Amino acid sequence: MAKIVVIGAGFAGHTAALYLGNKLGKDHSVTVINKFDSFAYIPSWIWVGVGHMKPEKTTFKLKPVYDRMNIKFVLGSAAEVHPDQGDQFVVVNTDDGTTVRVEYDYLLVATGPKLNFDGTPGLGPEKGFTSSVCSLPHVIQTRDRYLEMVERMKKGERVKMVMGTGHPGATCQGAAFEYIVNVHKDLVKKGLRDKAELLWLSNERAVGDFGVRGISVQQRGKTLSSEDFISAVFKDHGIKWQVQTGVTRVDEKKIYWENYAGERGETGYDFAMLIPQFLGQPMKYVGKDGQDVSEKVVNKAGFVLVDGIYGLSYDVLERNPDAWPSQYQNPNYPNIFAAGIAFAPPGPISRPFTNPNRLAISAAPPRTGMVSGIIGRIVALNIVDLVKRGRMTHAERMSEMVAACIASMGDSLRDGNAAVMVIYPVVPDMKRFPNEEGRDMFVSHMEMGVSGAWMKRMLHETFIWKLRALPGWKIIPE
Ligand SMILES: Cc1cc2nc3c(=O)[nH]c(=O)nc-3n(C[C@H](O)[C@H](O)[C@H](O)COP(=O)(O)OP(=O)(O)OC[C@H]3O[C@@H](n4cnc5c(N)ncnc54)[C@H](O)[C@@H]3O)c2cc1C
Repeated sequence: MAKIVVIGAGFAGHTAALYLGNKLGKDHSVTVINKFDSFAYIPSWIWVGVGHMKPEKTTFKLKPVYDRMNIKFVLGSAAEVHPDQGDQFVVVNTDDGTTVRVEYDYLLVATGPKLNFDGTPGLGPEKGFTSSVCSLPHVIQTRDRYLEMVERMKKGERVKMVMGTGHPGATCQGAAFEYIVNVHKDLVKKGLRDKAELLWLSNERAVGDFGVRGISVQQRGKTLSSEDFISAVFKDHGIKWQVQTGVTRVDEKKIYWENYAGERGETGYDFAMLIPQFLGQPMKYVGKDGQDVSEKVVNKAGFVLVDGIYGLSYDVLERNPDAWPSQYQNPNYPNIFAAGIAFAPPGPISRPFTNPNRLAISAAPPRTGMVSGIIGRIVALNIVDLVKRGRMTHAERMSEMVAACIASMGDSLRDGNAAVMVIYPVVPDMKRFPNEEGRDMFVSHMEMGVSGAWMKRMLHETFIWKLRALPGWKIIPE
C-alpha cells in the first residue's frame, strides 16, 4: 500500500487530493495536512473586501469531503519534512498542541505563499499600517477599514485610497486590480465616488502587465494590448496610476517608494491595500543524521525546486520555454513534488528591472488559481501513474498552459462588469509563436462587459461545487 501525503489544501493541494482520493483512496493511503479545517475560495474575497459577500460564502469544511473521497485529514501545520530514503515522514504540529508524524512514499508540497509583510517595514495589517486581501482574516479587517472610510466620506470628508503592490518584487497584481475597481464601483453605487481619490501604485513595467508581461490580442484586425485595455478602464473610472514603483517602507501616514529612474518619493494615504512579497512557506528539511538538507529541496526564497532549469539569465530564459518545469518533481528527492505557488519558477515572466540604486523592481511570476489547479492535477495523475505503473505520463509546462482570468469589476448581475482575459501560453513561447508576444494571438482574448460578471459568479458556484467533489466534479475543468 502506497502512502501519499499532500501538504496544503488550497487550489493546488486540494485539487490534487481529490484526484488522488478518487483514483487511489480505496487501495492506498492518501492524507492531506492543512493549517485550516476549511477550503477557501479566494477569488471571491474581493467581494468580501467591499462588504458584498459574507466570508462564510467563500468557505466549506474539508473533512466531510475527504471522508467521502477516502482521504485522511490532519489539521495542523507541517513543520518538518524528513526526506531521506527508508525513513520519510512529515512532522505536524496539530491544533490540540500535539506533534504527529505522518509517513509518506510520495509527498506533494502545495503550501502556497508565506505573506512576507516583514519584507517591507510598516506593511500589513498585523505589525504595520496597510490592509491586505491575501487571507480571510485580513480581508475581513480590510472590509471593516474600508467601511470606516465610507462612513468618513458620508460625513463629507475626502479620502485618499491607494491599492497595488507593497514590495518591489510582489506578484498577484490581478487581485489588487480587482479590488481597486470593485472599490470604485461600490463608491459609485453609494454616491461617494467624488469623495475618494483612488491611486493604483504598482511595481509593474506598465499597467496591465500583471506579472505575465501583459497580453496583446487581435481585435477587428487591430492589436490591442492589456496596457491600452487597463489604462482605458482606469481613465474611465477616474483611477490615477503610478507604475514602475517599488514600495520600500510605510508609516502611519505615508507610503515610501523608489521608481525605475531611482527617484525616491512618498505618497500620503488614508487607506492602503498593498500586496506583500510572497515567499515559500517555511518548513525544515531534515536529513537522516539530523542535518539540514533544505538546499536540496528549496531555493533561498523557500520555493520547492522542481524539474525546471534554474539560474538562466532573463534573455536566455525568454528563448527557452522548456526551462519551465513540466512534472514539478524535485531532482534530488524524486518522490517529492510541488504545485501551485509552492514550486520555484525558473525566473520571472515579465522583464526584470534594477534601478540606479540597485533596487530590483520586478513583478514576480504569478501562479494563479487555475494554473495551481492544473499543476495539482498533473502531479496527482503522475503519482497515480507511479503507484500503478512505475512511470509518469503527464506533463504540462506553464509555457504550454492556457489560463483564463476573469477580473471582477463590480459583482452586480444587472450592471456589474468583468474583464475576461484568456492568455495562451501563460509563459511566452517565442519558438512556437514567433511574434513579439510569444503568444497565440488568436487564442489570447480580452473583453469586458456584464456577461463577465455573470461568468465570475458562475465560476464561484461551479468551482465550489467541483471542489466539494459533488456529482460531475471531474468534468469541470480546473
Ligand atoms: C484576493 C485574491 C483574488 C484572487 N483571484 C483569483 C482569480 O480570480 N483567479 C485565479 O486564478 N487566481 C486568483 N487568485 C490567486 C489564487 O488565489 C492563488 O493563485 C491560489 O490560491 C494559489 O493556490 P495554492 O494552492 O498554491 O496556494 P493557497 O491557495 O494559498 O493554498 C495553500 C494552502 O496550504 C496551507 N498551508 C500553508 N503552509 C502549511 C503548512 N506548513 N502546513 C499545512 N498547511 C499549510 C494554507 O493554509 C493553504 O490552505 C487570487 C488571489 C487573491 C489573494
